[in-house]
Amino acid sequence: MTLEKLNNNDVALVGILSDANSSFKRGAAAAPEFIRQALHSGSANLCSELGVDLAENPCFVDVGDRQIGNDPESFLAIENEIFEIAQQGALPLVLGGDHAITYPVLRAINRAYGSVNILHFDAHPDLYHDYEGNPFSHASPFARIMEEGLAKRLVQIGIRTLNEGQRVQAERFGVEIHEMRSLDVNSMVLDFEGPVYISCDIDALDPAFAPGVSHQEPGGLSVRDILGIVQDVPNRIVGADLVEYNPSCDINDMTAMVAAKLLKEIAGRMLLNASL
Ligand code: MN
Ligand code: MN
Repeated sequence: MTLEKLNNNDVALVGILSDANSSFKRGAAAAPEFIRQALHSGSANLCSELGVDLAENPCFVDVGDRQIGNDPESFLAIENEIFEIAQQGALPLVLGGDHAITYPVLRAINRAYGSVNILHFDAHPDLYHDYEGNPFSHASPFARIMEEGLAKRLVQIGIRTLNEGQRVQAERFGVEIHEMRSLDVNSMVLDFEGPVYISCDIDALDPAFAPGVSHQEPGGLSVRDILGIVQDVPNRIVGADLVEYNPSCDINDMTAMVAAKLLKEIAGRMLLNASL
């Protein structure tokens, strides 16, 4: 599928095979292949719970993987690939890769839409100024995003690793953090004004649901928690990512299936809200 065929409000599934900025374990670059395999395995149909059948919907387009270099300097290439999708009015749904890719993806979204609201699921705030000397580490994307003013609001859900340094960063940037220890998903109200970008780090989930991540952090969200929040987003969703799935840490591909489920529900919500 060539990018020229994208239409306004298409959801464009795109893989970014990049894990060069992972601090602990590599392997997330292999995720898109496994997620697609789970999605098309025949185990389940491609219909979202809200009734959007991705198998039948001509606005759901898989544009394949972007073959960019897997090195820390590939960010400009990622930004340009995603901007090429966004400038056509299509809505990129990005499969990582590690979480470092969200920074160049948000730069592309910002070029197309200005600053957006970010709904961010993660065990980690990813706000380190730099991690072990790397300012583009997968532990730092939201520091870069907030410094550059790419986000109108950053709302983080599922956080359970907040240390003092990142607490200072969160206050500096006005990040709205819903820590896991006091989270009540049923009373959560999403009151964004304007377009939303969803960034979903698979390690937001409890490792019992999603063991296939580089940083297993116990005490996390359930799959249902994330599905429920995504299904309730009332705004246009101009882009999304699913990052940090690491097939080399998985058990029986169960996390690949979780990622495929999240993909279906996020894509379905994006398509339902596309004309808002
Ligand atoms: Mn993350
Ligand atoms: Mn994380």
